[in-house]
Amino acid sequence: MKFPGFIEDFISLLYPRVCAACGNSLFKHEEIICTYCLYHLPKTNYHLIKESPLDKVFWGRARLANTAALYNFQKKSKVQHLIHQLKYKGRMDVGIHLGKILGADLLKADAFSDVAKVVPVPLHSGKQRKRGYNQSEQFAIGLAHAMNIEMDATSFIRTTNTETQTRKSRFARWENVKEIFKVTAPAELANRHILLVDDVITTGATLESAAHILLSIEGVKLSVACIGFARD
Ligand SMILES: [Zn+2]
Repeated sequence: MKFPGFIEDFISLLYPRVCAACGNSLFKHEEIICTYCLYHLPKTNYHLIKESPLDKVFWGRARLANTAALYNFQKKSKVQHLIHQLKYKGRMDVGIHLGKILGADLLKADAFSDVAKVVPVPLHSGKQRKRGYNQSEQFAIGLAHAMNIEMDATSFIRTTNTETQTRKSRFARWENVKEIFKVTAPAELANRHILLVDDVITTGATLESAAHILLSIEGVKLSVACIGFARD
């Protein structure tokens, strides 16, 4: 978006133009992340590697076609700072920007050439209401934009029946916890290569349960992408 100069000046008063990774001032031609950080942040390039450490996280747990992670994630790192801006500082633009960076890389990778839809891991609705947005969805928007495909945040949702939950038996409550994800429109996802995305992958537990449900849809081929991979 291009704003007239005076509006641009006003916006930069509200949001000082600093790098979302290192906090240094951005030059006029730089957007969101400074040139130094862009070249020095630890890209994983796992989308180019067979049997990558991220692939191995899901071995024996979910049948994934491919996995991709933009950066290696470490505590107190610039990558953590970036994700903190996205999750807790209202910086939806950081998520979109990071999605565009990974999307441009995936566009060149054969393994991702038939991806038809980007699907964000749905956020618990209470969390989403508090934050105002789903951070993974912002990342998905950037990915889909760069890969020139559709982003779908409505066909796969999180079920949130906490109100009735208190009245249920203990067994029914357990069932309810198990069924945290739900497909609302299987025809929108069937027979497609879906790219399921999350912000950070640590143990892979959330993605594993989401993957099981998506893989139960007819003809779905599933890959996974994240911003940060926290390797132990
Ligand atoms: Zn920087």
